[in-house]
Amino acid sequence: MVGGGQLARMTHEAGIPLGIRFKLLSASPQESAAQVVRDVVVGDHRDLDTLRRFAQGCDVITFDHEHVPTEHLRALEAEGVPVRPGPDALVHAQDKGVMRAALDRIGIASPRHRIVTDPADVTRFAAEGATGGDGYPVVLKTVRGGYDGKGVWVVRDEAGAAEPFRAGVPVLAEEKVDFARELAASVVRSPHGQAVAYPVVESVQVDGVCDTVIAPAPDLSGERAAEAQRMALTIARELGVTGHLAVELFETRDGRLLVNELAMRPHNSGHWTQDGAVTSQFANHLRAVLDLPLGAPGARAPWTVMVNVLGGDYPDMYSAYLHCMARDPQLKIHMYGKDVKPGRKVGHVTTYGDDLSEVLDRARHAAGYLRGTITE
Ligand code: ADP
Repeated sequence: MVGGGQLARMTHEAGIPLGIRFKLLSASPQESAAQVVRDVVVGDHRDLDTLRRFAQGCDVITFDHEHVPTEHLRALEAEGVPVRPGPDALVHAQDKGVMRAALDRIGIASPRHRIVTDPADVTRFAAEGATGGDGYPVVLKTVRGGYDGKGVWVVRDEAGAAEPFRAGVPVLAEEKVDFARELAASVVRSPHGQAVAYPVVESVQVDGVCDTVIAPAPDLSGERAAEAQRMALTIARELGVTGHLAVELFETRDGRLLVNELAMRPHNSGHWTQDGAVTSQFANHLRAVLDLPLGAPGARAPWTVMVNVLGGDYPDMYSAYLHCMARDPQLKIHMYGKDVKPGRKVGHVTTYGDDLSEVLDRARHAAGYLRGTITE
């Protein structure tokens, strides 16, 4: 796996019972996964020769992020290295402009959008969608390189639209969707074309970062859930995805589903599956990448809630385990081995049960207690 973050750490964990020999390309020996994987190559994933050396002896290569240059993946593939997902699929998770164009082509709804050239063009884009007023606010995104809300701006006028162009990367303009909530539909697809769809979840973002995931999404009709799963399965098939695909969706106030973003790797919206589904997203990603039959994606409990643990003022979270574990025996703590810094995602918790509000309370309490914002 290329990339040494927590997703690689947890994918490695899922490979242990299968006896899979897991090799890692990590930017440094301190990264989350590099701390626990035995076979680590430390190197730069943007360097083709490093990737070539890493690929020697690998049966297949997969990723914990989308930052390997597409042309390097094409070169590896041309040299006979199986890359899953392959570059022709992965490019849609790397470049938001390419992704939006592909969704248009295959008839999957997303926010109104186009590539814009400068702030004056943003004003024209806004006016094209105006139903009164000037059409602002508009959402601007650099097509490459963003994550966790970095590389996304909500701009209210032409003066505010200057900033995104400074990076020198093409900029995508989108209508600001008036969404009721955000959902995620995840599927896993293998090279021989088998696919499974996980229950559709609700994801709650705070300051552009995923905070809470509720599985399944509350008050989602069976029809709407099936529509979201169908969209994700269609995207996986049409774009030739192998492995885990997370489709982030907006559910609009007038009842439509629009695709926001694609991730072709295990994803934060799927962490609940570690403890809440028959087969976790990490295990199924590995099975897909290795072209093994996929595991059942169904939920184990009526409700599973995942809450991310962000760093707080106390660097030592271990001392909070005693209270958290004693308070909720259903609770599972997943820490990533990262240094605790205020606001940094350092782990997550999951818990489950029959009553959603009670499960939510337990999960939020544990995450808050670990962070130090709740003290009893
Ligand atoms: P990233 O690649 O950083 O995750 P996203 O495209 O997922 O960026 O956007 C981050 C967040 O910004 C989304 O989860 C959503 O809350 C908000 N957002 C993004 N695009 C839009 C949009 N077109 N309309 C309204 N909100 C948006």
